[in-house]
Parts: sequence; structure tokens; C-alpha cells
Amino acid sequence: MKYTTEYRDPTIVQNIMGEIRSTVSRPWVIMEICGGQTHAIFKHGLDQLLPLQIELVHGPGCPVCVTSLELIDKALAIASQPEVIFTSYGDMLRVPGSGRDLFSVRASGGDVRVVYSPLDAVKLAQQNPNRQVVFFAIGFETTAPANAMSVLQAKSHGLKNFSVLVSHVCVPPAIQAILASPDNRVQGFLLAGHVCAVMGYWEYLPIAKQYRVPMAVTGFEPVDIGLGILETVKLLEAGKTEVVNAYERVVKFEGNRQAQEVILRVFEVSDRKWRGIGMIPASGLKLRSGYSDMDAELRFPVSAIQPEESPICISGKILQGLMKPHQCSAFDTLCTPEHPLGATMVSSEGACAAYFRYQRATVRDQA
Ligand code: SF4
Repeated sequence: MKYTTEYRDPTIVQNIMGEIRSTVSRPWVIMEICGGQTHAIFKHGLDQLLPLQIELVHGPGCPVCVTSLELIDKALAIASQPEVIFTSYGDMLRVPGSGRDLFSVRASGGDVRVVYSPLDAVKLAQQNPNRQVVFFAIGFETTAPANAMSVLQAKSHGLKNFSVLVSHVCVPPAIQAILASPDNRVQGFLLAGHVCAVMGYWEYLPIAKQYRVPMAVTGFEPVDIGLGILETVKLLEAGKTEVVNAYERVVKFEGNRQAQEVILRVFEVSDRKWRGIGMIPASGLKLRSGYSDMDAELRFPVSAIQPEESPICISGKILQGLMKPHQCSAFDTLCTPEHPLGATMVSSEGACAAYFRYQRATVRDQA
């Protein structure tokens, strides 16, 4: 299949790994931002093929993992209302809030439904004029265009019973927060190819320059990821702080202008709390004032909900590249995919779930 098999070719991957081995001369810490890349790296065993000098750490690019506990608890409160049909992507149903999740709300009689697109939620609102339909709009810049379209569509239909609980986060401010930390260990970044397909990669140039950290726009197949790592290692070894595009077949420098315009029509930049990390200024999107009548946080009385994070879960440190999942005392004991304590174990893109599934608690990983 074009664009799949050729990007999974083991011979090409081995050649790229050989080039990385012959390029690297000292240890480097590289962060893959996206949880999808984390799982692809482990699934294809790329981490095991890299020279020991390359340490991969796993970034905050899993939207389920970074949705704040506060937003999860607000979702649980709204979904428990008898007049509400609460709609969400399937991944969110098992994410634990303070003591329960959306599955348990559904088991207690709440009308919680999985949808595959926010436009399905708009349809539900049209079909159920006497119910309030709420869509849990989570995600990075990748899901923002479709979520914005649902708001525009609901507005154009004049729907009064549709609202969105917005938890949109943006990648560049998160990278800046990681780099600005005095504890930062990350020396190079693999940027998330799908985010850059929407937003382009021009936003990262000043960050790379300011913090003197190279970055490579990277895709999701083994060859793509290998090329992203190779380009990053080349830049690190040469002392260059550039942003290169190692995913040219999908990503353009300026991104997708039409998608950006749709996002900007509906959303504006806001401060956003990241689960386990805390508040990052200007790191999220919220509805513009012209669409605030569709803001579920204003439509339902949830403003007083402000829970505390679990003291056991160290996912915030994992998502900043400061610790690895197996260094958490609860990993594979109190916390497993069947009984998750934190979102990074729940999500199919979470780093803790990846370490559990692919058994990455080896001597190499503990180095
Ligand atoms: S293993 Fe569980 S408790 Fe520990 S950091 Fe991961 S999600 Fe949190």
C-alpha cells in the first residue's frame, strides 16, 4: 500500500539507524512530543535499535493525558444531569476524575455516548430538541478545525441545545514551558507531524532559536520517525538550532491556511491548565465571545469545581521528560490499564500505557 509499506521497510529503517550510529558522538536527550509517536516507537522497537547515546523521553502530546482533572470533573458533573446527552470520543470515557469516570456516570444512568466526529453531536442535538447535547472538545491543533466546524454548524442551524466543553491545548507553549524549566533535560525535539500539517512549523523557529534547541517535524511510520531522529541528531552534533522538515510529504511550512482560518473564527488563545503540569500561559484555545452561548462551562453550574491532583501520580514529570513511567511507585502495581490511576495509563497514546503494553522497564530504559 502506497505511503505505508515503503515507510515500514525494515532495510530502510536499519540503514537510517546505521546512519544515526555513525553520526552520534555523545549522549543526547530527544523528546518525541506526540503520544502517537511514543507508541509507534515502542511498537516497532525503534528505541531498541537506537545507539545507547540517544535517550528518548516522552512529551505531553497526548490530549487525553493532559486534559485537566478540573475539566474531567466538570465533564462528569455535566454528564450526570438528567437533561444532558454527553458526547465524547471513546478514549475519554475511562479517564479517571476525582474518584469516578464517564463509564461510571453512564452505569449510574447518565446518557453518555461515544461519537466519532463532533458533527455527530450536532446531529444528535437536531434529533433531540428537548435535550441538552454537550460535546467534550478535547485535543491539540489537529482536532480544533473539526470542533470549530461543529460550533459553526450548530450556529447556522440556530441550535439552542448544543454546547461544547472545550479543552483545547497548543503544542508550542508546552515546548516553551518544558525548555524554560530549570530542570529541563531535553536537547532536541521531534515535532508532531499531524499538528504541523494543520499549523505549519513557522511557530517553532523563534523557540528553537531562543532556547538553542533543534527540532525536526516528524511523521508516524518507522521510516519517518527514524528520519526525524537522524535529522535531530545531525543538528545536535553540528551545534545547529534549526527546525527541519522530515515529513515533507504531508507538512508545509505555512500549514493548512483554511483550517487555521476556521480555528481562528471560533477560538481564541487562552491560558490552559495541563493535567499533572499545571497552568501554562496562552497554551489553550477557548470559544470567542460570539460563541460563548455554546460554552458548556457557562451553560452549566460547574465553575466551583477545582479538584486536587493525586499525590501518587507522577505523570506531570513524565510528560516533561523528567521521569519515566517505570519510576512511578504505582506503575504495574496500583496502576495498570485495567485499574488506571492517571490519564497516561488510560489513553491509548499515554506513555505509561506504552511502557506497560510493550514491557519497557528494561535495564536500557532504567539507564
Ligand atoms: S503509572 Fe499510573 S500513577 Fe504512575 S505516573 Fe503513570 S498513570 Fe500516573
